[in-house]
Amino acid sequence: MKSKIFSIFIALFISCSLSAQYSDYVNKIFKNKTEIHFKFNINSRTEISRITRIISIDNVKDMEVFAYANKEEFSKFIELGYDFQFIEESSFKSSDYNMLDNLNAKNILAWDFYPTYSVYDSLMNRFQINYPNLCRSFSIKTLASGRKLLFVKISDNPDSIENEPKFLYSSSMHGDELTGAILMLRLIDYLLSNYSTNPRIVNLINNTEIWINPMANPNGTYASGNSTVAGATRYNGNSVDLNRNYPDPQGGQHPDGNNWQEETMAFMALADSIQFTMAANFHGGAEVCNYPFDTWAQLAADDNWWNYVCREYADTVHPFAVSGYLDDLDNGITNGYAWYQAIGGRQDYMNYFKHCREFTLEISNTKKPTASTLPNYWNYNYRSLLNYIEQCHYGLRGIVTDSITGQPLKAKIFIQNHDADSSHIYSVLPLGNYFRPIYAGNYNVTYSANGYYPKTINVSILNKNTIVKNIQLVSVSNDIAEVRNSKDAIKIYPNPAKTKVCLEFGKNSIYKILIIKDIYGKEVFRKSLTTEIGKIEINTTNFVKGIYFINFEGNESNFVNKLIIQ
Ligand SMILES: [Zn+2]
Repeated sequence: MKSKIFSIFIALFISCSLSAQYSDYVNKIFKNKTEIHFKFNINSRTEISRITRIISIDNVKDMEVFAYANKEEFSKFIELGYDFQFIEESSFKSSDYNMLDNLNAKNILAWDFYPTYSVYDSLMNRFQINYPNLCRSFSIKTLASGRKLLFVKISDNPDSIENEPKFLYSSSMHGDELTGAILMLRLIDYLLSNYSTNPRIVNLINNTEIWINPMANPNGTYASGNSTVAGATRYNGNSVDLNRNYPDPQGGQHPDGNNWQEETMAFMALADSIQFTMAANFHGGAEVCNYPFDTWAQLAADDNWWNYVCREYADTVHPFAVSGYLDDLDNGITNGYAWYQAIGGRQDYMNYFKHCREFTLEISNTKKPTASTLPNYWNYNYRSLLNYIEQCHYGLRGIVTDSITGQPLKAKIFIQNHDADSSHIYSVLPLGNYFRPIYAGNYNVTYSANGYYPKTINVSILNKNTIVKNIQLVSVSNDIAEVRNSKDAIKIYPNPAKTKVCLEFGKNSIYKILIIKDIYGKEVFRKSLTTEIGKIEINTTNFVKGIYFINFEGNESNFVNKLIIQ
């Protein structure tokens, strides 16, 4: 007994002194830093699942793990006992960044610079000033630091709600992964300046609402001051990895144990208010298209589509790039989890919770390449950037409405024997429109909305083709006729009817009559009235027996009555 107590005492003493020893060591490491970059080896890939919950894994090559940590994370990691090595920042001269501090000082169109924060802000604003008919520049959030989360929206009618898919490119939520930020600025300029001459760009802008956010973590990017990106950090100003800070399909609301950061909350509010059809999120440190999911091993329902669009992205890059570019993993593409598990990432959040198809593009092995090499990355990637936006036009699209009133509906659009893990989509108000990119195939698609009979259709879809299906759903309300009946005398007789039915209504008050067959919403009769008639007779001998709805469209309102054919 005595010796046992003594052993416990010794064990406690050792663990306390080890912790104290670590804590001195960790304090020293983080004396002048908020985050560190390091690497270590694992013995089995099963270890990743535990490690990824403690530190921010950045890359895994076979059994070698590259990661970042803030002080708190590193304190936990060090207890795991791995032998690690620090990775030193590449020793760039400040001239390598070619910081642009004056919009008029250099040839901006070479896009071979990194902007100071104020030049970035001015550049974003200038897009709207130079192209007021095509572009809106705005901030979705002014951070506590005073820096803004800046976006542009590009559309032929930038202030209108149009029946077009909404598309998002966003970069550099890891503040030190900056290649994508410069490519985004250049893409904005390319789209706007080519609109007057390039039919492909005209088509893209006329039919898509394109949102672009070059810098999603300006506090990280300008961590050492607004005049340089030299001290850029991966984490935000609060030492949190924003790409582990999102609600996760299996990790819950706060998978990293942190509160949602102000950047995260602003982005989530945006994703709540705008239904993006597709998106991509630009990172650096590797060269690969990383598609869902990151959090678990099960493949996405649209795994074949992800393979197809990511393959197209990488394959379109390769002929125009130096050999070895964008060829990590499966020659430039990978399933996220198959590379390494990450929990709390934006990609899975957008796919699982927001029904938006977003992938993560790791665009350059070097996170902040020498500024003079930035134009190379543009030349490798710009064709693929355009291709991927165009993909949001393909697949199945249309508008869902109420069969009687024509009111647009928010409906769930679910593909039978296909959709899983929230891959279904919804039509979006106020237009009731929907866009469902999907790989070629034959599908049964069910449309459903609260208070309506569901409707299933069969469609055959080809890649790079668009099928338009406008769907009318029929209300299940039995009171439909009474609720919407006219106060004016609309007479329907005989009702039930056999071979003919007479409709009487006020002269000039009705301009169109539609008769729709029961729950399938199939139109069987349509007549526009151009003269002052107040009565029509309809031959119903070809109507199959059942319930119909007669829709009287008036100048001021619509009236619906039930008709029974016996
Ligand atoms: Zn990253």
